[in-house]
Amino acid sequence: MRILVVGGAGYIGAHMCKFLSEHGHEPVVCDNLSTGHRAAVRWGSLSETDIGNPEAIDLLLGSIRFDAVMHFAAASLVGESVADPLKYYRSNIANTVNLLDAMRRHGVRRLVFSSTAAVYGEPKANLIDERHPTSPLNPYGRTKRVIEQMLQDCVSAYGFKAVALRYFNAAGADPSGLIGEHHEPETHLIPRLLRRAAGDDLDVRIFGDDYDTIDGTCVRDYIHVNDLADAHLRALQTLDLLPGFQVFNLGNGAGYTVRQVVSAVESVIGRPLGIQVGARRAGDPKALVASSVRAREVLGWSPQWTDLTAIVESAWRWHQKPAY
Ligand code: UDP
Repeated sequence: MRILVVGGAGYIGAHMCKFLSEHGHEPVVCDNLSTGHRAAVRWGSLSETDIGNPEAIDLLLGSIRFDAVMHFAAASLVGESVADPLKYYRSNIANTVNLLDAMRRHGVRRLVFSSTAAVYGEPKANLIDERHPTSPLNPYGRTKRVIEQMLQDCVSAYGFKAVALRYFNAAGADPSGLIGEHHEPETHLIPRLLRRAAGDDLDVRIFGDDYDTIDGTCVRDYIHVNDLADAHLRALQTLDLLPGFQVFNLGNGAGYTVRQVVSAVESVIGRPLGIQVGARRAGDPKALVASSVRAREVLGWSPQWTDLTAIVESAWRWHQKPAY
């Protein structure tokens, strides 16, 4: 299949392109390089198209015939989405309208969409499955939820086949060391710890140790980026067999506290980091752990990277010698 990977120069998109090309498919990257990296595009060609420009995306879909679209492009910083919600409504919702409209005009009807556990909001269960109510706590999560609803409508109205994959905490890097995570600013726990270990001047603190968890710090479900890529390809391959619009959670099904992550990082780098405890971060739920039973049953997916230390090791390989 020839697949348009929107946001393919970003962290997860680049891993997707490598995975697609290793499985005999042809990725074509569409990325405006606002947060993506030219050097991350090593599998397939790059079209520097901005999906914020309806004529440009129309031109791209009119000039190349695609079997499907995978859509990773989004603004994704929770704090920024609270401070500047219109940026999020524009980058995420308005730009996705442009993409869907171009797909409709050019008869490309298969879409795999990057969604997030942030659509659930405050968890009401220890293990979150897809039936958990959606009640996002911030504009970022709301934009992702609105897009899911748009996809549902496009499935009904235009015969689209669409899947939304709700990621929990994406982590790790491809073992090749060729691609990895590079955000500016970096807000995520594992890359912040590893960048600090690699010598970056980052003040990394544990955001609160007075939560009702085993050690007082927040619990998250870390899933390797290559396992996410695997789920995307399976979702695409299953799309035509499934009715309408589908949603799947993607997580390891095991939670780790912030302190456990700090310990895993310290064991991988072989020395203590002296991380102090700071204040809670606003809007952090105490625990977010996925039930991915549905993805396992329907997509036949099962994560290969189940060990947190191995996930951290793969990320450490990247952070010691990042290529971009
Ligand atoms: N966290 C932390 N210090 C940091 C960054 C994150 O203690 O410098 C915590 C954060 O409060 C959360 C967990 O690490 O409990 C994972 O946060 P991250 O931003 O990586 O992902 P999120 O779960 O917010 O999507």
